[in-house]
Amino acid sequence: MSVPILSVVIPVYNEGDHLLQVTARVTEVLSTLDLTYEMILVDDGSQDQSWPDICRAAGGDGRIRGLRLSRNFGKEAALAAGLADARGEAVVIMDGDLQHPPELIPTLVEIWQSEGVPIVEAVKRDKRRTPLWHRLCTKIFYSLLSGLPGEGLDGATDFKLLDRRAVEAWRRMGERNVFFRGMAAWLGFPRREVPFSVPERVGGRTRWAFFQLVRLAVTGITSFTSLPLQLTTLIGGVFLAFSILLGGQTLYMKFFGGGVDGFTTVILLLLITGSCIMISLGVMGTYIARIYEEVKARPRFLVADRCGDPEDPPLTGIGAATSTSTDA
Ligand code: UDP
Ligand code: MG
Repeated sequence: MSVPILSVVIPVYNEGDHLLQVTARVTEVLSTLDLTYEMILVDDGSQDQSWPDICRAAGGDGRIRGLRLSRNFGKEAALAAGLADARGEAVVIMDGDLQHPPELIPTLVEIWQSEGVPIVEAVKRDKRRTPLWHRLCTKIFYSLLSGLPGEGLDGATDFKLLDRRAVEAWRRMGERNVFFRGMAAWLGFPRREVPFSVPERVGGRTRWAFFQLVRLAVTGITSFTSLPLQLTTLIGGVFLAFSILLGGQTLYMKFFGGGVDGFTTVILLLLITGSCIMISLGVMGTYIARIYEEVKARPRFLVADRCGDPEDPPLTGIGAATSTSTDA
């Protein structure tokens, strides 16, 4: 099979109800484009009929391929698997629930082709649908990451087009814990944004449980900023200032006053310092856990099965993306 111009990577987790509908819509849009393409569906350990459906789609259309991860590794790992496998000159990454409208792909491709920008991103225009607390948390999260180059990540999605340069650069980032959005911004290549409004899911429900989102946020923060660690030092500094003041006052009382007063202060100080120390230890623990995970250097994902590409024998590419960490 010759190398296609465009690769479309779609992570799939229990999307069986509407998978064929999604592939049909994407195929319909892609066939209007005057270029060769491939569609890579990465099954992230689904428990429903997603994998047989992927293989059925691949059987009916030579441009569709399927990868099956050995278990549920999470969306970010599924994206990594798809990116490692994509061969196109440009790669479009999109969700498998039609929340990233395929009709936008021609616009992304056109901007890439006419302006030659390495990264074209679709950004959320209206976020009214998202609950207020969610928007608030997102705001705080992204402002913590505001050190990243570019316009910041507000409204960012994983719906992007990356050209070969950007994909190769991304593949050289060797971390195990993938935070795709942040990593794409970190690359620093020129980016163009295309606004879109997020439609409802075509079916099923979101796979992100609250704690999964928290985990992704912690991954994002710990891999892109050491600010929480520096905050620990800052809090220590503030406490030092206080202790000098209070220490002075205590000594003064001891020599010139009664000196028994201040029991409340002692209790308060104990409580506050206790919690600050615990939180600081927690923050450090989080970073140490990340270091531990990274030094174990386990593969980001394992490919258990493939379908649709006669050139690729099954059970190859185990942890394909891991080798990219050493070729830097
Ligand atoms: N997804 C995945 N692995 C997971 C969770 C989600 O591959 O563990 C895929 C899912 O099939 C979909 C995309 O990631 O194509 C976005 O997931 P979802 O729609 O649940 O997230 P949301 O749109 O609510 O952010
Ligand atoms: Mg979705």
